[in-house]
Amino acid sequence: MSDGPIDLHTHSSVSDGTETPTQLVRAAVEAGLGTVALTDHDSTAGWHEAFAAAAGTGLTVIPGMELSTNWGPASVHVLAYLFDPNNGDIVAETARIRDGRLHRAEQIVERIAADYDLTWDDVLAESSDGTTLGRPHIADALVRKGFVPNRTAAFESILHWRGGYYVKYYAPSPVEGVRTIVAAGGVAVLAHPVTSNKYRPMDDAVIRQLVDVGLFGLELDHRDNTVEGKARLRTLAKKFGLELTGSSDYHGEGKPNRLAENTTSPEVLAKLVARGTGAAPFVG
Ligand code: AMP
Ligand code: FE
Ligand code: FE
Ligand code: ZN
Repeated sequence: MSDGPIDLHTHSSVSDGTETPTQLVRAAVEAGLGTVALTDHDSTAGWHEAFAAAAGTGLTVIPGMELSTNWGPASVHVLAYLFDPNNGDIVAETARIRDGRLHRAEQIVERIAADYDLTWDDVLAESSDGTTLGRPHIADALVRKGFVPNRTAAFESILHWRGGYYVKYYAPSPVEGVRTIVAAGGVAVLAHPVTSNKYRPMDDAVIRQLVDVGLFGLELDHRDNTVEGKARLRTLAKKFGLELTGSSDYHGEGKPNRLAENTTSPEVLAKLVARGTGAAPFVG
């Protein structure tokens, strides 16, 4: 493994980041990272390109994904690392989620189109083939049309879940999600579990259920976690023997988050790598 800062949560244009996996790896090298995890939403399509780009750079790439799950009306993200990308359940479940996201994006655009001059083609123009489609791509179309100045403004208005145009999409429950990741040899970490815009924070009983099916850790250091929430995560980690990670959730220019603005300790990375059996880190 490489020395240097460890950032375990980033997105490329395979989902809603603005840089290709190659550009993202270059940015990670430039930022002086030792290890970066590529965690596109519901897709492993960027893994090989990221490995190829990292070859010879000294950067270690941890192959990962951010799995969408639904906990009642709330969307809960689960980071998955070092799982077998060809595992049948992973392949089927992520295909189902991506398909649901596509139809849901069409429905959101249909609703917006009643009030704004926005078409499905405008949204397709903001993403490449096979991309895990999300509201960020609709946001980019709204920006290009001049209805909002940037992604963040779009999320605070038209695309907000209370904005009047929101539609949910299919995703498994958090327990099913963690179980599937672990069964594929992967390591599961709850992403940004205590953000202020949460519909409802997960209670201890649900966390216990996740621990029972093999949850490894909690993403503690993330810019969207609240101060009070972080205190609760530390308590939960002690109570359930969970590891704590930190990461940027970098989306290129799609979000203000910068690489390595939060990092994970080498000790926790070592435990994570020891736990994952479905894929190996790529040491560039
Ligand atoms: P979706 O998964 O389609 O419901 O959209 C949620 C995604 O949009 C998340 O993965 C975030 O990374 C991204 N997102 C949320 N809020 C913002 C924001 N203010 N600016 C840019 N991207 C955002
Ligand atoms: Fe995202
Ligand atoms: Fe997320
Ligand atoms: Zn993310």
